[in-house]
Amino acid sequence: MTNQNHPGEDHEAARLIDAPGPHAVSRLRAQRLARSSKPFLARGGMKGARCPGCRINPAHCICRLQPRLPVRAGVCLLMADIEALKPSNTGWLIADVVADTFAFGWARTDVDPALLALLADPQWQPYLVFPGEFVAPDRVVHRLTPAGPAQPHPQPGNMESPTLRRRPLFVLLDATWPEARKMFRKSPYLDALPVLSLQPEQMSRYRLRRSRREDHFCTSEVGALCLELAGETQAAQALEAWLDVYTHHYLQAKHQLPPELNTPAHLALQSVRVAREVPEVRALAACQDTFEEAG
Ligand SMILES: [Zn+2]
Repeated sequence: MTNQNHPGEDHEAARLIDAPGPHAVSRLRAQRLARSSKPFLARGGMKGARCPGCRINPAHCICRLQPRLPVRAGVCLLMADIEALKPSNTGWLIADVVADTFAFGWARTDVDPALLALLADPQWQPYLVFPGEFVAPDRVVHRLTPAGPAQPHPQPGNMESPTLRRRPLFVLLDATWPEARKMFRKSPYLDALPVLSLQPEQMSRYRLRRSRREDHFCTSEVGALCLELAGETQAAQALEAWLDVYTHHYLQAKHQLPPELNTPAHLALQSVRVAREVPEVRALAACQDTFEEAG
């Protein structure tokens, strides 16, 4: 629970006015917490109060910095059991940036009917994101189905074919690698989906740009690579910057140091927030997306 007088309070108030309500990962976390019989204690994580919007110590809250921009693609996170509870989970950051983010807890023995309905919804073209070397070659794709020319305001009698209008839905297995492999093998409802395998060239370009050496990408980095493949460069960059800002504030809070507010990532987010105020961008957002109603 938040303290009445802590410095993050005004940030949280601003968030409540601005934001559409708790997002899918936040709701899944709340459900998962309600089911657990003992409090979840994150190893090595922060102790004490956390902002419910960003999970960081309220004095280091980043809610007011959150990018909001129109994103046509959707993301469906299938989360391993305790993933939603981890303070370091970066699927949360995808849900911050991509308005149409859906999150489901994964269980071997049952599947949420809402997940099946989402995968069958004709407005979406789902892609299961997974390394191609573990999959039968005929299922693997490296790029998205061509979406046809952009036509944000179709007129009656001039509609594009429904298949061309389908929006990409990236299905991400948000889990450790051994868990993700198990989820992949034991989820028959995913078997019909094309498997989107990120290309080594794209990943090494990303590593170079970000000065990253590790082989492993976190979930929000995979999300950013998917957005880039969908041609949503601004959203991809916003998600990268959001991960950097989150990581910086999280670590500064952990070490009880004040955050810097003018890092390149902070400046990148600022430019997204300015762009969002342009009327054309807002109109496009209203046309393309139905933002999740506050739950
Ligand atoms: Zn916050």
